[in-house]
Amino acid sequence: MLTAILAIAFLAVLFGLLLGYSAIRFKVEGDPLAERIDALLPQTQCGQCGYPGCKPYAEAIAKGVEAINKCVPGGTTTVIALADLLGRDPEPVSGAVPDKPKAIAVIDEQECIGCTLCIQACPVDAIMGAAKQLHVIIASECTGCELCLKPCPVECIHMIPIPAETSNWRWPYPERPAERAAA
Ligand code: SF4
Ligand code: SF4
Repeated sequence: MLTAILAIAFLAVLFGLLLGYSAIRFKVEGDPLAERIDALLPQTQCGQCGYPGCKPYAEAIAKGVEAINKCVPGGTTTVIALADLLGRDPEPVSGAVPDKPKAIAVIDEQECIGCTLCIQACPVDAIMGAAKQLHVIIASECTGCELCLKPCPVECIHMIPIPAETSNWRWPYPERPAERAAA
């Protein structure tokens, strides 16, 4: 019995050491600048920048191969924050619809047929439902990326503007000379 306990303890220590060694030896060094840029992006993973998520876009900016104005959900706020971090001039957000109010998606429960296509499209798992069952969107999780609208075969998902409240209102950044010149 004691031998068995000692053998198991020995194996546990051995595997622990092996895991510790592997974690150090095979550690993938992230790009600290890409990490800082990624931290400024809204994490909607919506792909409107042309990249399959915020991190790949952050890595492209960090490599200096991409402009800082492609994040539509982040808007001017993100462009200015990235310009500050990278010492670049801010530019108007490309592809953004000026003054488009922030919105979240809502499913018309009468129309939903429970096909689950919207669940597969949502990059942040904001939709709950099951096959042939009613689907519902968790408002607090929805980023308003609109990726679920196109796949819905019965077009029962609608974007509802978020009313401006103290919790979601942001002090607009003052326009800078470069931004005014670029507009
Ligand atoms: S529910 Fe629709 S709009 Fe909201 S995050 Fe998911 S895909 Fe985007
Ligand atoms: S895609 Fe449309 S119909 Fe299908 S589950 Fe989602 S909301 Fe319902």
